[in-house]
Amino acid sequence: MILLLAIMFMVVVTIISLRPRASPFKPNDRVLVVTAHPDDECMFFGPTLCHLADRNIQAKVLCLSAGNFYGKGDQRTKELEASCKTYSVENECLNSFKDGPFMWPASKIQETVRSHVSKFRATCIVTFDKEGVSGHRNHISCSAIQPISNIRVLHLESVSILRKFTATIDLGITFFAKKPYVVAGSLRSVKAMFCHRSQLEWFRFLYICFSRYMTINSYHPISSN
Ligand SMILES: [Zn+2]
Repeated sequence: MILLLAIMFMVVVTIISLRPRASPFKPNDRVLVVTAHPDDECMFFGPTLCHLADRNIQAKVLCLSAGNFYGKGDQRTKELEASCKTYSVENECLNSFKDGPFMWPASKIQETVRSHVSKFRATCIVTFDKEGVSGHRNHISCSAIQPISNIRVLHLESVSILRKFTATIDLGITFFAKKPYVVAGSLRSVKAMFCHRSQLEWFRFLYICFSRYMTINSYHPISSN
């Protein structure tokens, strides 16, 4: 009986994850993933990066700070590079913003992202929403990024704590929520998480096992003001 339920669950997961219409990305997109700290890319945006890499859609991670709050900025920058290699995506870590529990100026973020959109010739930006998934103020600051001319902006959806830690079981709710989403294998994200050795506390292992952000990303499309 348990085996039958497990098989049924896997079949449903496979069918849902293969639904093409749910993805907000186009084959010729160039996607700039804007994060706040080294490790955000695999803790939160891993499914997006896997999905893009699997479809040969050009992507780049732009990390706004070196995550130097505890003086490990240099090490964390190198860890980001190793993590992004796991996903086969470019990365650039800026030292323009100071890591810490405070908001970053919206105008400075917009100006910084604008120049990198132009440099990368991005057609789409993916970043945090107003809750920043974990509520970190640096994450929330990224939600101030506005669409630039015809560049689309997608905010990574923050979900309730209950949904956040139900792993792939949350796929059922995500499926019926009618927001764009992607589902992509978590193994690369697990590998990428282990690239961030300076951050490997015991609770990270629980996160790897239970977080839906290891396999599911859903988005709020943002329209220009
Ligand atoms: Zn972060």
